[in-house]
Amino acid sequence: MILPQMPSMRLEGKRALVTGASSGIGLASAVALASSGAAVTVAARSSDKLEELVVNMAAMGWRSEPMFMDVKDTTRTLTDLAASGPFDILVNSAGLARHGPSLNTTTEDFDAVSDINFKGAYFLTRAVAQGLIDANKPGSLINISSQMAHVGGIDRALYCATKHAVEGFTKAMAIEWGPMKIRVNTICPTFILTPLTQETFNNPERAAWIKEKIKLGRPGTVEDIMGAVVFLASDASNLITGSSLMVDGGWTAD
Ligand code: NAP
Repeated sequence: MILPQMPSMRLEGKRALVTGASSGIGLASAVALASSGAAVTVAARSSDKLEELVVNMAAMGWRSEPMFMDVKDTTRTLTDLAASGPFDILVNSAGLARHGPSLNTTTEDFDAVSDINFKGAYFLTRAVAQGLIDANKPGSLINISSQMAHVGGIDRALYCATKHAVEGFTKAMAIEWGPMKIRVNTICPTFILTPLTQETFNNPERAAWIKEKIKLGRPGTVEDIMGAVVFLASDASNLITGSSLMVDGGWTAD
C-alpha cells in the first residue's frame, strides 16, 4: 500500500505581501506566514508600527520587511507593487468600518469605506496576480472579508456591501486565473477583538448580540485566524479557489 502524503503547510521559499499588517488580523497574518517560513512584506501607513513588527519578527528568526502603503492611493500602490513583486501569497487585511443606520450614511462615509475595503482590495489583488502572471508563477491570494459578506448586520449596510463586493470579485477572479494556478479565496471572520471592533464590544447591547449569535460562546481572537491564513496560503489547500473560509464560531450556521 502506498500511503498518501500529507501536503506541506510550510512556506519556505515563498514571498508574501500582507496589507493592514500594522494591527489586528493583518499583523497576526504576517506572524502566521513568517513563522511558517515565508519572507513577508508588511504593508500599512503606520511606518513606526511596521518597523517595530519587523524588529520583533527578526528577533524570532523570521524574515520580513516594511512597505509604506496607503491603499487609497491606488496609483502609487500599483507602481510600488509592480516594482517589488512577484509575491506568491497575498493577504489583503487593510480595512475600515463606519457603522451606523444606512439612512445616516454620507457619501463621504461611502467613499472612504469603499475605497479601502472594495476598490483598494480589488486593485491590490489584481496587481499581485499580474506580477505572478508576468513571472509565470502560481500563487494564493487571500482577501480578509467578513461573516458580514454572507449575512446582514445591525447598522452595517455599508460595511456589508463592501464585503459582499469582495466575495464577488474573489469568485470572478478565481475563475479568470484558475488556469494560471493562481488561487483566490476569502477568510470570513466573526467579531474578533481588535481596534476595529473595540467600539462595538464597548456597547453592551452589541456585546450581548455578539454573545448570542456566536454558537461557540466567545468572540474571536486574532489567533483564531492564523491557521486559516496558513492553510489557504499553503499547498494543503491546492484545490481550493473561489471559496470563503468561515471562521465565525457558527454565526452564519442558522
Ligand atoms: P484593525 O486592527 O483596525 O487594522 C486595520 C488595518 O488596516 C491597519 O493595519 C491599518 O493600518 C490598515 N489600513 C487602514 N486604512 C488603510 C489605508 N488607507 N492604507 C493602508 N492600510 C490601511 O482592523 P482588523 O480588525 O485587524 O481588520 C482587518 C480586516 O479584517 C479588515 O478588512 C476588516 O474588515 C476585517 N474583519 C475584521 C473583523 C473583526 O472583528 N476585527 C471581522 C471580520 C472582518 P494603518 O492605519 O497603519 O494604515
